[in-house]
Amino acid sequence: MSERRRMQIGEGRISGAVSILFGSISLGGVLCFLFPDLFTTPEFRAQYDVPTLRKVLAGCMLVAFGFSLRSLIANSSMRAGLIGAGLASLALALGGAGVEAGSTGGAAFYISLDWLLLDLIAMALLFVPLELFLPQQREQTKFHSEWRTDMAYFVMAHLFVQGIAAASQGPVRAFLSDFSFGGLREAVGGLPYLAQVLLAILVADLFQYGMHRLFHTVPYLWRFHAVHHSTRSMDWLAGSRLHLLDVIGTRMLVYLPLYVLGFAPEVLYSYVAIVAFHAVMNHTNTRLPYGPLERFIVSPRIHHWHHSADPAAHNKNYAVHFPWLDRLLGTYHAPGKEWPESLGLEGHKFPKGFLQQHVHPFRQDPAAGEPRGEVSTR
Ligand SMILES: [Zn+2]
Ligand SMILES: [Zn+2]
Repeated sequence: MSERRRMQIGEGRISGAVSILFGSISLGGVLCFLFPDLFTTPEFRAQYDVPTLRKVLAGCMLVAFGFSLRSLIANSSMRAGLIGAGLASLALALGGAGVEAGSTGGAAFYISLDWLLLDLIAMALLFVPLELFLPQQREQTKFHSEWRTDMAYFVMAHLFVQGIAAASQGPVRAFLSDFSFGGLREAVGGLPYLAQVLLAILVADLFQYGMHRLFHTVPYLWRFHAVHHSTRSMDWLAGSRLHLLDVIGTRMLVYLPLYVLGFAPEVLYSYVAIVAFHAVMNHTNTRLPYGPLERFIVSPRIHHWHHSADPAAHNKNYAVHFPWLDRLLGTYHAPGKEWPESLGLEGHKFPKGFLQQHVHPFRQDPAAGEPRGEVSTR
């Protein structure tokens, strides 16, 4: 079966994949209940509605078994269906939805498996149907040659979310905690909620624009950001492919104005939820029509142009949220209603795999380190 052949509804491959996904989530969920100290985020734990989470867990196991059965009936290979059923059975054997919750005693180290599972469910439910029923690249399967690498990025960014947040916010707080900012924080914190959210998104997008542009035009930085551009198959997972230094550098610069302006905590939570959704949406393989909205909000089409292999589109469309920032700053490129013909780093050899891609920028590699833009000779 060709790797790039699109999965067909009814042949059982989609069912097998869904079964494995929900079987893994079920097993992970049971582990979170059994060992909360090790696998759940202390800040999130206090907010959880446990009876609801047990229902979600039961639902996930049911989906895993149901789709496993569907896959076994329809698919001749049977492997995916059996793996999905096996994972869900293991979850059931360990206690299933009625599993007794372990005690919490303040472990020295934990990973945010709870955040990974909950966001994986939410993102997959939101974006997979869009890509299945309204795809831009119809021939691209969910299981293209790069999805494992992208999934590794998604998993690592979620498991270590607290560490990444500490690394990007800590230095800003350490440097600025003694400044009073002359009443600025109180003034911004006193604005209505909606005004604060809009201001936070605008300021964050401006600073993100600046950092993103630097990552494209400073040759040494481009090596790291080139990791994000190395994918040739855009989908909801592809946006996760970011070098750890790219993530920390960008988040630090974005957090700087958010900290200085003193937005209320609920405003920051809203901003984080919005940017998480919008950044994933921008990479989604969907032709969902934006119509006139595209003038005000970055669409997948606009961000796909940012990933175009065409040199005319290099160093364009830096904004995550507002395309008019790129228009204002002379970096907008998304002709008519067209989509880019090819994506990625054309002619550049780039390794596959999470670890290889993290090491790659440190090694001398003129091809990957080639700057694109103001300081480029191209
Ligand atoms: Zn970029
Ligand atoms: Zn991107």
